[in-house]
Order: sequence, then C-alpha cells, then structure tokens
Amino acid sequence: MRGTRAEVDLSALSHNYQSMRAMVPENVKIAGIVKANAYGHDLVSIAKKLEQLGVDYLGVANIFEAKSLRNHGIECPILVMGKTFEEDYDLAVKHDITLTIFDLEDARKLNLNASYDNKVAKIHLKFDSGFNRLGYKEIHKLISDVLEIKNYEFVEIEGLFTHLALKNVEADEEQFDKFDELLKKLKELQVNIPIKHACDSIGAVAYPSKHYNMVRLGAILYGYCSRKTAFELKPVMSFKTNISQIKYLEIGEGVGYDYLFVAKRKTTLAVLPVGYADGLPRNLSNAGFVVINGQKAPIIGLLCMDQCMVDVTELPSLSVGDEVILFDEHAPTLSEVAKIAQTNRNELLARIAIRVPRLILDEENITRIDYMDRF
Ligand SMILES: *Cc1c(COP(=O)(O)O)cnc(C)c1O
Repeated sequence: MRGTRAEVDLSALSHNYQSMRAMVPENVKIAGIVKANAYGHDLVSIAKKLEQLGVDYLGVANIFEAKSLRNHGIECPILVMGKTFEEDYDLAVKHDITLTIFDLEDARKLNLNASYDNKVAKIHLKFDSGFNRLGYKEIHKLISDVLEIKNYEFVEIEGLFTHLALKNVEADEEQFDKFDELLKKLKELQVNIPIKHACDSIGAVAYPSKHYNMVRLGAILYGYCSRKTAFELKPVMSFKTNISQIKYLEIGEGVGYDYLFVAKRKTTLAVLPVGYADGLPRNLSNAGFVVINGQKAPIIGLLCMDQCMVDVTELPSLSVGDEVILFDEHAPTLSEVAKIAQTNRNELLARIAIRVPRLILDEENITRIDYMDRF
C-alpha cells in the first residue's frame, strides 16, 4: 500500500505483552488498556490480540469503547475507567461491562437498572489518593458507601483502584500509603474486594511490590515506557506515507502559507500527502524531519491540514511514490517527534486520525482497516 498509513505490528505487541507477563507475578492480573482506539493502533485488532494472548481485563475510557468491543465479539472482562452517566447504565448491564463508581447515588441507580434485567452489575470503586482526578477523596466516605453497596443485590464490588501522579518516589509512596490505609481499614471491617490495582505502565515497572492484584498497562504494551525496563520494548506502530510530487525551487522562492520557508539555495522539495488532520502535529512546521531512503529530510514551511513539504536537496534520485517514514522504531522515533512537537508520545499516537488506514500485520497476515468505509 502507498499513501499515508499507520502500520501496526502485532508481533511487537505480543513481545511487549509477554515480556510484561513474565515480569508481573502470576497471581497479578493484567488489564490491557485500549482506550482512544488502543492509543491509535485500532481498538478491535489490539483487543482481539490481547484476548488471544490471555489478557485478564481490558480497560477503556468510556462506555462506547466498551460497547464497540462487545459488538466485535470480545468476551474478556471490560472496565470503563471513566465516568458513566446513568442513561448508559442499561448498556453496561446488557453487555456485562464493569463500571467505575465513586458516588453512592450512582451505585444505587445502577443497582436499580440491573434489577430490571435480573443481572448483577460489576463495579470497581475509584479512590483518589492524591491525583485529584476521579475518585473518592475521603476514606471514611468510601468505606461508608462500601458498607451500603455491599447490601445491594444487583451490584457487586469486584474491584477498588487508584491512580498515581508519578511526580516522584516520595509523592507516589504517599499515594500508596493512603491506598494501603484504606485497604487495611476494609480488612478490619472484613470487607473483601477481590481486585485491587494502582499501577499503570510506569508504576508497574517502578514499583514491583505494589502491583496488588492487577496492573493497568497501556503505553508499555505499545512499546513505550519512560522508565528503564529489564527487557527491550518494541514499538508497535510505524507511521508512513509516500512522496506525491517533486519540484525544484530557485533561490528566494517561498514555500506554503505565509512563505514561512524561503529557499536560500537551489532547493529540491518533495510534497507529502500528510498533514495535521492526519495527526502529524502542526508544531513540526519548519522544525521536524522525515526519513526517506534512510536519510533525513527537514519539514519546511507551515505544515498544512492535508499536506506538507520536505527539503530533499541532499537526497539524490528520489521518485514520486518513494516511501517516507514519519516515525518508526529507527528514525525519526516517536520520542523524537514528540520532543520536537513539544508533546508526549501518547498524544501523538492517540491523535492519528480516523481517515488514516491502519495496516495490521500479524505474522504473514495483513489486514487493512479503513474507518472511512464505515461512514
Ligand atoms: C490510561 C490509563 C492507564 C494506562 O496508562 P499507561 O501509562 O499508558 O500505562 C492506567 N490507568 C488509568 C486510570 C488510565 O486512565
């Protein structure tokens, strides 16, 4: 295939998953986090592969991602880690989707909803140990709600979790201490909540003694972790395109909107069919680079919505259709692009656009996912 596409290598995903599985104790579950279209990699392909690899749970941000997984036949337990509003509780009950709850009133409404179907809705309670995002802030409030929810016939408290801010070891330990204090109090009250979890990818690597019963792995499965790992991580996605046109500029000619780039020498320019609407950050204007035939070509001028231009003066004998690397495991890496664009790797992955086809490579098989066919 030529044109802008994201190639997703499922053997790299397997490698990362299995390396983590070997590192995490056997009695600790792994939740594979597949929110945001599996960090841009394709929700269903990644979830199916993880299910095949034996993942224990899948984590998503909202109920619609969870429903999509069920629509595609995923049977693995699914946790919605964000807020679900009551109008969607029937979806959760119907599709056996575990919800995150941090409010007694929500638990009561969910219990009522599940009673209509005579089903038991699973929930994980969220504890805010300091991040100050979602969750119960007060231990006593969480505990009194647990004691109440325990009596609900159609709700089961399956899990309890918190999330780390990862400022530094000291701050993280303060969060763990709060979480441990909560767990100790629940134990004293003989409340047993089977699945307790706190760590994301970085937490799982940095705090092996704090895995509790589950770790929630996102970035690391896709090949990225900002802490040193005992094994090599393999990036799962490569972002590529092909040259659309080549042209020659005289000294003094401008390129693109506002002529942000002006040729200071006779310049050979390649036009690429990829822009910020595909997920290539506009911040790469006059700053980023791509790699063609193993050589760097700087992005020149303002990056447009659908196209951009690169300086290929130093790259002899190029042709229209030649392959261009926007990022892959060699160069530029996703980390390099993120640094130049002044963002992080997850944002770049998550923003690879829906109009960009995904090529899913699994051993010898290649599947093309073309989201635009669905409109
Ligand atoms: C996204 C998310 C994760 C996964 O984070 P990574 O750093 O990508 O591993 C874990 N837990 C929660 C609550 C999340 O929102």
